[in-house]
Amino acid sequence: MAEQYLLVCPACGRKTPVEAFQAGQRVACPCGATLDVPTLLELGRLDRAEPSEPLVLAGAWGLWQRLLIVGLLIVAAAALLALLTYAWRPTLVDMQKLPPRLAWRFWRELQQGLDSPPSPAEQAYVQKVRMYRLWWIVVAAIGAAGLVTVGIAIWVRAHQASAPHAAKSPLPEEGEEGLEA
Ligand SMILES: [Zn+2]
Repeated sequence: MAEQYLLVCPACGRKTPVEAFQAGQRVACPCGATLDVPTLLELGRLDRAEPSEPLVLAGAWGLWQRLLIVGLLIVAAAALLALLTYAWRPTLVDMQKLPPRLAWRFWRELQQGLDSPPSPAEQAYVQKVRMYRLWWIVVAAIGAAGLVTVGIAIWVRAHQASAPHAAKSPLPEEGEEGLEA
């Protein structure tokens, strides 16, 4: 197994193993950053990779899995908020608590509401409906952010599957022999 050097990503701090033949080339960090592999001379100053350490694989899987979990949590939170928002949707008055006659009169007033100035109850209702609609926009935005995060997770996963360094998963170790080399 060729010697591997750990290239530290300035963006995320993740260490990507590179080999001598990659000197001067570019590699992709799992975070999406492009890393310039230094010259052969400078490579020697970098930390060596422990052959038994599945650094890249663990990091790569960790990234998209974390993104997926975060995205799903955000979507779940948005769904919960949507349920709560719907449950607390504004109602003009609790009609069930009004005597039927009053409720009917109230309803009639609503129908003819344009003629008379809005009552405080109506004004409060309009205000509530505004807040309600605003809140739906917020909930929708949260849900969209969650879906985007899930999409990024899926993209990262697909991207990493085709990235050259992802294919270079460490061989299964047999004992400690690799450490003594
Ligand atoms: Zn990075």
